[in-house]
Amino acid sequence: MGILDGKRILVAGVTMDTSIGFATARVAQEQGATVLISNFGRALNITKRIAKRLPSEPPVLELDVTDPEHLERLPALVREHVDGLDGVVHSIAYGNPETLLGGKFLDGPWEDVAQAVQVSAYSLKSLALACRPLMADGGSVVGLTFDATVAWPAYDWMGVAKAGLESCSRYLARDLGPDGIRVNLVSAGPLKTLAAKAIPGFEELETMWTTRAPLGWDESDQTPTAQAVCALLSDFFPATTGEIVHVDGGFHAMGA
Ligand code: NAP
Repeated sequence: MGILDGKRILVAGVTMDTSIGFATARVAQEQGATVLISNFGRALNITKRIAKRLPSEPPVLELDVTDPEHLERLPALVREHVDGLDGVVHSIAYGNPETLLGGKFLDGPWEDVAQAVQVSAYSLKSLALACRPLMADGGSVVGLTFDATVAWPAYDWMGVAKAGLESCSRYLARDLGPDGIRVNLVSAGPLKTLAAKAIPGFEELETMWTTRAPLGWDESDQTPTAQAVCALLSDFFPATTGEIVHVDGGFHAMGA
């Protein structure tokens, strides 16, 4: 018996088997959930191949969270496979690594900043609202952040986008709470994924974590983060919303 037995979960943002979304889909299936995954654009074919590596091959939906038509048709696409959703995972972020990350903070152009904020923060609202009609009996929305309460080396404008995401999750928690929909984030330590590898200077963060996290930190192990996401999707957090759960080996609690 798993903690997600009978739950129907959409995991948005799976490209490779290193994706946090992939690990989340795997753990969710192991815990009894029926899982759908999504991605967009040219990577969709990669996602379809990668989906075969999950314990049970899930349907792969096309969803660009910045495309209003994709958002509008999402409930119909989901209903081709399940009659509703109990949980939605937002595992999505993008910021142009050439202009916004790796020490480019003072030069980041607005057009690229706007794109990063739309894809990485505003889209939590877009995705949650698109899925709202599918969660008539309530549900759980979970997103992924990288602690945006402080400034980091290299993270630059993605840090600003994550601050937006963290705030967005609290306002969504306020407005969707009356529908019985919880909205929470998991704040993960640095993990070796496609998105992370694209950040120039990301190794600096990895080194800080391996030396300072009191529980230690394995940047190649997405499972603890995925387990926390699945716990928040489950019925074990019925009175928790607007929360950020740290899965970072305890790094955030240390002063030095
Ligand atoms: P990832 O595997 O690259 O996942 C990011 C996903 O976002 C990719 O599937 C990407 O698709 C998708 N995406 C980008 N733009 C999109 C759009 N417009 N519409 C729909 N999907 C879009 O990297 P990840 O590290 O697992 O990232 C997942 C989440 O965890 C992100 O929010 C990230 O910021 C967060 N996080 C990561 C770390 C870390 O160290 N890796 C730490 C804390 C939090 P494409 O591959 O096709 O672009």
